Amino acid sequence: MNLTDIAQDWSCTSCGGELEIVKVQFAYMKGHFEVDLPACKDCGLVLVPEELATGKMAEAERILEDK
Ligand SMILES: [Zn+2]
Repeated sequence: MNLTDIAQDWSCTSCGGELEIVKVQFAYMKGHFEVDLPACKDCGLVLVPEELATGKMAEAERILEDK
């Protein structure tokens, strides 16, 4: 699954607007991570596809464990 495809295929679940890929910072456990996520150009809603979120969390855990 590719973020650009998601941005093109999906529309905002709130207003139906177009999506663009934005960098979003989030805190997880003791780390801060920056991820690219599709967000609505109109209302700013950020979409987090579940399998993507799960993958990023696994990645974040691995990064933390390596330290
Ligand atoms: Zn929207």
